[in-house]
Amino acid sequence: MNAASEKTPAEQLLTPVQYLKGLGPQRAELLERLGLRRAADLLFFFPRSYQDMSELRTIPQLEANIPVSVCGEVEEIDLRNTGPGRSMLGVLIRHESQFLRALWFNQPHMRQKFEVGGRVLLSGKPKLNGLRWEMTHPRVEVLAAGEDPPSGRILPMYSLTEGITQPAMRRIVGSIANSYAEAVEEVFPESFLADKKLLPIADALRQIHAPDNNEQMEQARHRFIYQELLLMQLAIGLRRSKLQLEQRSPSLPTNAKIDARIRRLFPFELTEDQQRAIADISHDMEREYPMNRLLQGDVGSGKTVVAEYSMLLAVAHQHQAALMAPTELLARQHVRTLARDLRESRVRIALLTGSLSAAERRTTLEQIAAGEIDLIIGTHAIVQPDVKFKQLGLVIIDEQHRFGVNQRAALRQAGLDPHYLVMTATPIPRTISMTLFGDLDVSTLKQTPPGRQPVHTYLGEEDQRAKWWDFFRKKLREGRQGYIIAPLVNESPDLEVESVESAYENLANGELEAFRLGVLHGRQSTEEKEAIMQAFNSGELQTLVATSVVEVGIDVPNATLMTIEGGQRFGLAQLHQLRGRVSRGSHPGYVCVYASANSEEAQQRLQAFSRTTDGFELAESDFQMRGPGDLFSLKQHGLPPFRIADLTRDADIVEEARTDAKRLLEAAPNLDAEEFALIKQRVLLRYGGAMELGDVG
Ligand code: ADP
Ligand code: MG
Repeated sequence: MNAASEKTPAEQLLTPVQYLKGLGPQRAELLERLGLRRAADLLFFFPRSYQDMSELRTIPQLEANIPVSVCGEVEEIDLRNTGPGRSMLGVLIRHESQFLRALWFNQPHMRQKFEVGGRVLLSGKPKLNGLRWEMTHPRVEVLAAGEDPPSGRILPMYSLTEGITQPAMRRIVGSIANSYAEAVEEVFPESFLADKKLLPIADALRQIHAPDNNEQMEQARHRFIYQELLLMQLAIGLRRSKLQLEQRSPSLPTNAKIDARIRRLFPFELTEDQQRAIADISHDMEREYPMNRLLQGDVGSGKTVVAEYSMLLAVAHQHQAALMAPTELLARQHVRTLARDLRESRVRIALLTGSLSAAERRTTLEQIAAGEIDLIIGTHAIVQPDVKFKQLGLVIIDEQHRFGVNQRAALRQAGLDPHYLVMTATPIPRTISMTLFGDLDVSTLKQTPPGRQPVHTYLGEEDQRAKWWDFFRKKLREGRQGYIIAPLVNESPDLEVESVESAYENLANGELEAFRLGVLHGRQSTEEKEAIMQAFNSGELQTLVATSVVEVGIDVPNATLMTIEGGQRFGLAQLHQLRGRVSRGSHPGYVCVYASANSEEAQQRLQAFSRTTDGFELAESDFQMRGPGDLFSLKQHGLPPFRIADLTRDADIVEEARTDAKRLLEAAPNLDAEEFALIKQRVLLRYGGAMELGDVG
C-alpha cells in the first residue's frame, strides 16, 4: 500500500523535503539553510529574477548594445591588478570559432566562477572593441559538463546556498511545481479572480517557476505580489475593527471653554497645520475606543505644542497623560517647555527616567498611582511594570518610528485603554505608513511656524575651512550659537568620546579659542548633560562640541550654526535631523558638512542633503536609494517578511490592495462569509500572532 496516495492534497504539501522525489537527507539539509523544509516551501520559493533565454544568440548575430545571452567555452582567464585595490578580470569565451571577451573591473572574486574548458552562459550588452566583441559585467551562469543551455525559455534564477547550483535548484523547484501546483487550494473566489484579472493559483505557480513567456511571468508575479499585500491589508483591517470593538477608552471631548483655556497658555499662534492636527486628535479622543494616531512633521514643524494640547485635554477631564521620549535629554527638555507654559496653572508634572534615585522613583510612583501627578514625562522608564497610573487617558510617544502595529501592549493598563499619539520627524513614505503603520491614522504638519528663516547647507571644501570659521566666529559675535558635530564612531562609545574630546581640544585652542565652548556626549552623566544643556540654553555656552546625541529633538532657537565633520558617516535622515537643530528660530541657519571623499553612495546622499531642506522629499529619495532600511523593516515591527512583494517597487499595488481590503471588509465584516473563509484562514496563519488577531477567527 502506498501511504502517499492516501494523503489529502493539503497533507501532501506538508511533506518534508527529504521525502520528496529526487531529494534526500543531504539535499534537505542544504535546502533547510534557505528555510525550505516542506513541499509547500519549495512551491512558494519564488525566483528572485529571470534570464530571458529567448535572447540566446551566436557571436556573429550580436549587435552593439542589444542585450543578449551567449553560450560558450572558457578559453582563457586573465586577472590583473591595475592599481591599489583595483583589478581587471578578462575571460575569453569561445563559441565554435568565434570569441567574446567578458570583463569585470574591481571584482576579483568573479575569478572563482570560471575554469578553463568550462561552459558558461553570459548575459549582457555586447560592445565591439576593435574587431572583438566584449561584455562588461555580464550576468554569468555556469553550466554543468555536457549541459546544454536551456533553449527558448525564460529561466528562473533562485537564491542559492553553497552546494546547490542554479540548474539543480531549477530542477528541484521545477519538479515540485509540476507535481504539487494542483494540490494548492485557490484562496480567492472565482468571481474575484475574474474581477481582478488574476491568474488562478495553480497556473500562477507553474508560470512563476517556468514561464511560457514574459507576459505570463509578469501575471504570475503580479498575482502573488497582490495576494501578499492584500493579506496584509486585510490583517490590518481586521485588527482595526477588533480594537474598535473590544477596546474601550475614556471619551475626552474638547469644547470651547477647554479649548480657550489651553490655547491661552501658548506663547504663539498655532499654525493651520497644528490646528488641523489638534482637530483630528480632539475628534479621536472624544470616541470611546483608543485613538491610534501618528503625527508626522518635519524637524521644527512644532509637534510639541500639539502634544501639549492633547495632554492638557486629558487633564481637563481629570485624566493623566504620559509623554515618552527616546532620551533623557529630550524628556527633560519637554519638562522645561511644559513647566514654562504651565507655570501659572495647577497642573502637576513629574519626570520619570532611569536616572532617578530609588527613593525618588518610589515617591514619584506613589504620586502617580495616587493621581497626584497629571503629566508624566519620561523615557522607557514609563513602561516598566511597576508604574501604575491612577487614570491614564493618553500616551504620547515622541520621535519614535518603532511603535508599529503590535507594540502598544506594553502600556495597556487594567480597565480602560489610553489613547495613543505617536510623533515622528522622520517622514514616513506613504507605502510604509499604509503597511507597517497601517492601523494608525495620520496627521501631518507640512508648514513650519511663521517667521522661520531658511537653512543654508554647504558641502565644505577642505581648502576653504578658514573662510567658514571666519563666518562662524562672525555669527557667534553677533550673538548666535552653534554646534560642532564630531564624526560618528560606530565601533565603540569610548572612541566616540575621544573623537569629541579631541575636536573640543583643537577648537578650544584654535579656531574658537575666543569663545565659550562645551562638550556633550553619550558617556556623560545625566547631571552633566543637563547642566551643559542648561548652560547652552541660557547662552552661557556659545558652542557645543557634540556627538550626534543632539540629533533628536533639542530645541535652542538661537543656535543657528552647525559644522558637521565626517559627514559621509551619517545617513540622510540623521543629517536632516542634525540640520533641524539650527532652523528653529527667527535667524537663518547655516550648516557646513565636511566629508572625506568616499563612496558614490555617500556622495549622492550629501548632494541630496544639500539640494533640499524638505524632509519629505529627502525621505522619499532615501527610500528610493536604499529601500525601507532597518527602521522600517518588517522584522523591526515583528512582522513576517514578504516573499515577493517589495514596498519600494510595488507602491501602486499597495494602494490597490488597501482599497480592495476596505471594500471586502465592508462587504463582509470580519471576513465572515463562506467565500472568504480561505482568505481569512491565510490572513490568520500569517499575521494572527504578530498582530494579535488571535480571537478574530
Ligand atoms: P518638532 O516638531 O521638531 O518637535 P518643536 O515642537 O520643538 O518642533 O518646535 C520647534 C520650535 O518652534 C520651538 O521653539 C517651538 O516653540 C516653536 N513653535 C512651534 N509652533 C510654533 C508656532 N505656531 N509659532 C511660532 N513658533 C512655534
Ligand atoms: Mg520634537
